[in-house]
This record gives sequence, C-alpha cells and structure tokens, in this order.
Amino acid sequence: MSAAQQRMFIGGDWVAAQSGETYDVVNPATGEVIGKVPKAGREDASRAVDAAREAFDRGPWPRMTPADRAKIIWKIADLVELEVDRLAMMETINQGKTIKMARDNDFPTGIDNIRFFAGASRNLEGKAASEYTGLGTTIFRREPVGVVCCITPWNYPWLMAVWKAVPALAAGNAVVIKPASVTPLTTLEFAKLMEKAGVPKGAVSVVTGPGATVGEALVTHPGVDVVGLTGDTATGSRIMELASRTVKRLQLELGGKAPFIVLEDADIEAASEGAVVGGFVNGGQDCTAATRIYVQGSIYGAFVKRFTEKVSKIRIGDPTRRDIDMGPLVSEAQRKKVEEMVGIGKNEGAKLIMGGKRPALGGPLSRGFFYEPTVFADVKQDMRICQQEIFGPVICVSQISTFEEGIEKANDVVYGLAASVWTRDVGKAMRAGAQLRFGDVWVNDHLPLASEMPHGGFKQSGHGKDMSAYTFDDYTQVKFVYVDTTDAVRKPWYYTVYGD
Ligand code: NDP
Repeated sequence: MSAAQQRMFIGGDWVAAQSGETYDVVNPATGEVIGKVPKAGREDASRAVDAAREAFDRGPWPRMTPADRAKIIWKIADLVELEVDRLAMMETINQGKTIKMARDNDFPTGIDNIRFFAGASRNLEGKAASEYTGLGTTIFRREPVGVVCCITPWNYPWLMAVWKAVPALAAGNAVVIKPASVTPLTTLEFAKLMEKAGVPKGAVSVVTGPGATVGEALVTHPGVDVVGLTGDTATGSRIMELASRTVKRLQLELGGKAPFIVLEDADIEAASEGAVVGGFVNGGQDCTAATRIYVQGSIYGAFVKRFTEKVSKIRIGDPTRRDIDMGPLVSEAQRKKVEEMVGIGKNEGAKLIMGGKRPALGGPLSRGFFYEPTVFADVKQDMRICQQEIFGPVICVSQISTFEEGIEKANDVVYGLAASVWTRDVGKAMRAGAQLRFGDVWVNDHLPLASEMPHGGFKQSGHGKDMSAYTFDDYTQVKFVYVDTTDAVRKPWYYTVYGD
C-alpha cells in the first residue's frame, strides 16, 4: 500500500487540517508508513461540530421519515459489502489483525449490524399514549438527541465506528467520528461510502487527530449533546470529567478483564479450545478477551496441559496470510505496555509457562510489533496482572476450589464487561448467569455476539449498550406532549394554586 495522503471529511467536504499538519499511519506488521492523515486541531473539531449542528437543527436528516433514513443506512451496508475485500485488507494492514478476522468476522458482523440498525430504527419503542390525567391526552415521543460525537478505539477500528455512529445516525442524530489516531484509514473510507449512500452534508464528519487535543475539543464543545466512547477506563473517566461542564450524555464502553471459569464437570477439550480462542482473539487486544482463567482444582493440571498444547500451535506472522492466527500488536507503544505488564507479573511471582518475549521473525516482519502468546500459571488474585487490563496476548491461569470461589474471584475486579463459565451442570450455569456482575455472560462459549445482543459493561467497564435495540436508548431522548381535551377555562385542580 502506498503512503497516500488522505483528507478528512468535515461538513460534506474532504479537507486538510486548518494547520496543514499531517501525521504518519503505520503498518504494525512491518513498521512501514502506509498513509498520511490530517492532524486536526481545535478549529477543525469546531468546524465539524458546527456542520453537524446545522445538519441537525436545520438539515433534512432528522426530518426524514424513518423509512427514508433506513433506506440510506441500508445502502451503506450494500456499498461496504461491495468493497469488503479491499476494506478488510486495509484494516489488516493498518491494525495488524489477521485477514481472516477482518474479512470473515469484523466486516460481515458490521454489515449485519448496519442492516439491523436500519430496521430497528423504524420500530423504536415507548409507552402507550393515554388520558392519564383524565383531562387530556399524553403522548410520548422518542426523539434524536442532536449531535453525537463518537470516539473509537484502535482494536476494531471500523466495527466500533459502526457500533457508535450508525445507530446514532439511524435514530436521526448528526455524528462526528474521531477514530483512534493509529487506525483512521477504514473510518475515512466508511465516510466516503456514507457520502455515496446519500447521508446529507454535515450529518456525518470524520475528524482525524490526537485524543488529547481534537478529542477533548469535541468533548468540551457546547454544540455536542452526546459523547460515545469505546476506549480505556481512564479515558472514560477523563471524558466524564470534561463532559460534566456542559452536562453531556455519555455512552461509555471501557476496559475489561474477562473471567473464564472452568468447573470440574466441564468438557476440558471444549473449554481449552474456547480459552485459546477467547483469550487470544485479536492478539488479546479485545475488551471481552478471556484473560483470567479460573480452573477447579481436580482438573487444573489436565486443563493447563491441554490449553498450553493448543497455545503452542498459534501461528504468528504476516496477518495478510490466511494461515496466520495472530498478527502484531497495534503499535510499539502497546507492545511496550504489554512487556511492562509481563515484567510486573514475573516480579509478582506468577509462573511464566509460555511466551513472555518477542518472536524471532525474519524479513520485513522483524520490524513489526509482534509478541508471543504468553501464559502465566498459579496467578494470585491480588497480583496486578490479574487485576489490571493488559490488552495483549497475556493470559492468567489460577486454581479455584469451588464454584462459589470462582464467582467471587471473577467478580473481584473493577471491570464488569464480559465473563464465561464452563460446566455441564444446568443449575450452576444458571446461578453463574445471575451472580456474575458482567454485562455479557456466556455458558460453554466465550465471545459470541449478534446484532440483537446488547453489549456493554457493568462497574468501571462503563454504561450504555452497543448493538441491539437497547443502543437506541443512548442516542434518543423521551419527551411527553400533553394536550388538554376539556376546553375548560378552569380545570378542577386550579384552586390548589389560585382561588377557591
Ligand atoms: P484509548 O482510551 O486511549 O483511546 C480510545 C479513543 O479515545 C481514541 O480515539 C483516543 O484517541 C481517544 N482519546 C484518548 N484520550 C482522549 C481524551 N482525553 N479525550 C477524548 N478522546 C480521547 O484506548 P485505546 O485506543 O488505547 O484502546 C484500548 C482500550 O479500549 C482498552 O483499555 C480496552 O479495554 C478498551 N476497549 C473497550 C471496548 C469495549 O467495548 N468496552 C472495546 C475496545 C476497547 P487517540 O487514539 O488519538 O489517543
């Protein structure tokens, strides 16, 4: 891929940053520069918000029928589908995820999500209108909130742009998307397809640049009504602080540290296979990744043996090849963070049983940001590697004695995004479903999500939902309109305020 100079999309125009500044976008598998994008500043953020404000306050988008909007949204999915091979390869080259993940998971999932949002936005729910006071009719309206700023992460760049921006747009809002600095390419392509599908001028903008400047400019802008973020818990906390000044609504999908509980009656073969897939998905750069494996004592040894045998077969290398299971980490900074956490794990006394180093890959890949699949065994609950998100291919395995201990340890982190339990005991499966304080709970699998399933965290994993009909709660607001039907000058209750 040549290092093409890109423009960003503001108010229906493809523009450079007002400062003229750009920054390099890098292929994490080779370290090669593959693009240059505008480094937006405060003034560019303002332009995007002004355009969105205009599109929402006076433009056609929120005034269209849901059916007409849905037609355009559906067309976006069709256009993405036509270019899916090119877009998936672009995602792989920019993010480092394997082509089989990008092409066969992220894009088909996102295309289906878009179509789901198109349909679901035509069928928003609310309470029945009625004569609740006895003197008039109350009707309920569910309306778009206004301008939604969508701040997306680098682990699923295009898919997260879909989850944030498309339901907001389908509900009639105008959106400004700020992709993660390191992975802007597919979001810029997405804007081209949204423009082509007929999303009106200003209803969608994409502003590229650093979170600390352009992100904060968007979050503090008085013209923004809602901020949707997928990112780190620390970023969510910072955004809450900034957004509080203008009392903005927030939708936050933040960090995770998913437990994976294997009870003694589990199918060890299925659980160990599920743990490899759930733990090393996207190189472990996934907020639902199964990073804490708790195994009941009597099967601990057998499980660890089978699990590590399977981990040793993970094929690491050039992510554009279909026979590769794990590509590089997204950036050198992320690899350093992972290395630092592995160092902390060793110092804490966890037993490093696999990986813990950079692989020896030759040729251009020697300059990529690769890291070996890493497993710590005998991890103690209070160790930092067990409590903190690492966001890389590092798994902690610990032993538990009972079901209750598994649930207690699973819940004993600040996060609450995703969890799974592996058992053939229906009663335990149901109890785990109720007792695990996580937004996504699986039994005998880890990771499956579909458009209809609400994905979102408890505790410091954030609030609000991506996907499903529930996501529209974050991007709409409810009002009532009360119409007096008595035509009376004095209503029976007026005396409580005035006269007898
Ligand atoms: P960050 O929180 O650093 O970045 C997320 C986005 O926020 C980026 O676009 C970033 O911009 C932007 N940002 C950073 N600081 C600010 C700020 N002060 N104001 C406004 N915007 C800001 O996370 P990562 O991109 O590093 O992603 C990894 C993290 O995201 C992990 O902790 C992971 O758990 C979490 N995550 C959660 C998911 C969920 O569904 N709950 C899904 C995926 C990831 P820039 O890139 O320019 O810094």
